[in-house]
Amino acid sequence: MQHPVDRQTWHEVMVPNEQPGTLIPVRGNGSRLFDQQDRDYIDLTGGGGANLLGHCHPTLVDTLSEQARTLWHLSHGWTHEPALRLAQQLCAATFADRVLFNNTGTDANEAALRLALHYSQQQRPEKRNLIVFQGACHGQSLLMDALSDNHSAAESPLQGQITRLPFNKPEALNTAINADTAAVMVEPIQTEGGVRAANPEFLHALREHCDRHDVPLIFDEVQTGMGRTGRLFAYMHSGVIPDMLTCARALGGGFPLSALLTHRLLSDSCPLHRYQHGGAGNPLVCQVASRILELVSEPSILQGVQERHLLLRNHLITINQHSGVFQDIRGQGLLIGATLNHAWQGRAMEIAQSAEHQGVLVLTSGDSVIRFSPSLIIDPQELHHGMERLQLALAALK
Ligand code: PLP
Repeated sequence: MQHPVDRQTWHEVMVPNEQPGTLIPVRGNGSRLFDQQDRDYIDLTGGGGANLLGHCHPTLVDTLSEQARTLWHLSHGWTHEPALRLAQQLCAATFADRVLFNNTGTDANEAALRLALHYSQQQRPEKRNLIVFQGACHGQSLLMDALSDNHSAAESPLQGQITRLPFNKPEALNTAINADTAAVMVEPIQTEGGVRAANPEFLHALREHCDRHDVPLIFDEVQTGMGRTGRLFAYMHSGVIPDMLTCARALGGGFPLSALLTHRLLSDSCPLHRYQHGGAGNPLVCQVASRILELVSEPSILQGVQERHLLLRNHLITINQHSGVFQDIRGQGLLIGATLNHAWQGRAMEIAQSAEHQGVLVLTSGDSVIRFSPSLIIDPQELHHGMERLQLALAALK
């Protein structure tokens, strides 16, 4: 028999490292979630960007159930058909010809940096400096924490090797990327850092500087990959091709899976006995990911992302005409940030909580940006209802 649990149970048994919202979702369907009292919520978070096709997409439920009856998990000593097929699909769809699977975005970024450090230090042992950017978020291991902007590098095993440059400032790259640089890591859209897109000129400048000094350029597409921005990967908008790309979240549709995409020159530069980074990606998650990739690659889905972008944007503009809360609406595809104006600075979490109260779920990015990353196939009518609820949430705060 299962014991009843409620939100109070969280305080009794969980380590308080995050403060979840007050509701406990118990089931989902498309872009709706239902809580323990069967109250419905319109989910504009898309599971933090992972539930690319909404909750319980019937095709994915079938794929998952069928694979669950076939093969779930293997030791790392063997590869399997779903991983091989997924890697083939990812290579066919991108610049890459080599793939490494892991569990999380953090893992994939660690793998990228290990590979880049091996590659660069084979050239010169002094080539050990890592370049990252203000506003970045790359994960939660000690190293990734240090590379991200909200934490100190003091605890990092690579302390002293990390340089943080201003984002979107090509002039800052001039001397910073040099013969001692081992890798550059950048997000095409800084998602946790306020939904700020990298300018194409900045990305082109990064590519040029990296080429000049033979430095691997790593795009962290953990948030932007798999169609989220209206192209399969965000690098496809600018035409700047990285040497490595990391993706996660939407790749497994909410199941833990990440991938490092790269090319042979880099991957073969590291003999396996030296490159000791364990992989992952079991048959269950790889089969689901493979199906997601097939579905998302359909032109009608990506076209629908652009249409929904305009719809969501226009709704937010209309809301702003009534409430005057937003200063700017930015982002690409279905990764949108609404920045709060001067009078509302610091109130993003309060707005998200009020929205939850009105039955619509949104994310925040820092303390002054409301973030939207709904399902790529959200019904326009649901979007409309979600926006009505958001408007009520804002009115309740005035
Ligand atoms: N990279 C980016 C851009 C992220 O936003 C995050 C997490 O928010 C990560 C990496 C870390 O991914 P994970 O939480 O899967 O380890």
